[in-house]
Amino acid sequence: MVRCDLADGARDVLVGEAVVVNERREDRDGEREHAEQRDPGLDPFPHEGPHGAEANGQSRACQRTPGGFANAGPVRKRRPRWTCTIGAEDEAPMPNAAVLLAPRELRLEVRPRAALAHADVRARVRRAGVCGTDVAIYRGDYRVPLPRVLGHEWSGEVIEVARRDDETWLGRRVTAEINRHCAARGEAALCPLCARALPTHCATRAVTGIVGADGAFAEEIVVPAGTLVALPESLDDDAAVLVEPFAAALQVFALSPVAPGELVVVLGAGRLGALIALVAERLGARVVAVGRGRTRQRLAPFGVPVELADVAARIVPDDPLAAAPSALLERVRALSDGVGADLVVEATGRAEGLATALDLVRPRGTVALKSTPGRPVARFDLTRAVVNEVRLQGSRCGSFAEALAFLERHPLPLDALIEASFPLAEAGRALDEAALGGKFVLECG
Ligand SMILES: [Zn+2]
Ligand SMILES: [Zn+2]
Repeated sequence: MVRCDLADGARDVLVGEAVVVNERREDRDGEREHAEQRDPGLDPFPHEGPHGAEANGQSRACQRTPGGFANAGPVRKRRPRWTCTIGAEDEAPMPNAAVLLAPRELRLEVRPRAALAHADVRARVRRAGVCGTDVAIYRGDYRVPLPRVLGHEWSGEVIEVARRDDETWLGRRVTAEINRHCAARGEAALCPLCARALPTHCATRAVTGIVGADGAFAEEIVVPAGTLVALPESLDDDAAVLVEPFAAALQVFALSPVAPGELVVVLGAGRLGALIALVAERLGARVVAVGRGRTRQRLAPFGVPVELADVAARIVPDDPLAAAPSALLERVRALSDGVGADLVVEATGRAEGLATALDLVRPRGTVALKSTPGRPVARFDLTRAVVNEVRLQGSRCGSFAEALAFLERHPLPLDALIEASFPLAEAGRALDEAALGGKFVLECG
């Protein structure tokens, strides 16, 4: 076994045909020195193979078998920055993770590194976004098997791969799609839903940080290589955590397209609703965003002409937006020759929002459903939807690649939506704050 020690000013050393690039961690409290890793072809965490030392809990960042380091990329002439010795002790600290043991019972734990499955990669998490789904699971409203490491919105850097084919990911800044479907997991045969090109509905999927797979409220995360998405330089680590919700916002329009000039009403302009409103505006729609006090503040940095209808004063606490306030109804009618909105996006997070949406949509218009309140709609007049031939379209996750392409065409300062960041050790506080509203990010590494 080879051990690499950082030499002063050193970064890498040529070993055979391989270039070893490494890092060291000074302590567990966040003071670390990272060797910069710019070339995606290099291996920042040389390892013994798919199930090597990293996998069995004996991890050391720079371990390798004497002849086993298989990165056969082009040899680069570099100033040697590392020295390697054989047989030294393993001492890389195990990664910390915020583990949800039971509702509202979150504990920071040092966890042994999980083994990589044959198509997995390990990434060092830099930032993780706290999402409404995380809050719902944390509070026990959304029940999933526990314990679980939450967090599905993240940015980080790939540090280990199981397959030689995935070595090009090493050292790259990435995020990852959250649905771990058949193809992403490297399965030889696809399930019937994946075979029908519906991978986000994969019959055997796990969902990062939610069901069947631990998430990103941790210093390291393991994901299938097939879920990885490389991040462009234009998106910093903070903004990158918003790729997942941004993709979810785009999915509304993938399933319910709008034409320029059409009227879109977004009910519930929280963070997701704000993203939906921004996308609609960029697509050329006229947008009315219906939200509460902070909506204006949330959308201000984007400088888009989104009309805001602040209905806070009219909301009954336990029955928000149960019926469209008359001022809103009048405004939407005034903007639509009296017929109603072409598309109403229901993103209030409450079951009652659907009734309001049906008040506002035009005949043969679309109500796009984005809320997942987890309980039945108590009062819902199906007749209105039938008589007006309204299309009800649910939508969930969107394509990260399409989200990044959209952001390339329409740059948006996504990180303006982030209100504050917390260290990983304060994940519980971040979840409590997020429960009160707002977007927060964990600094994981
Ligand atoms: Zn989310
Ligand atoms: Zn599948």
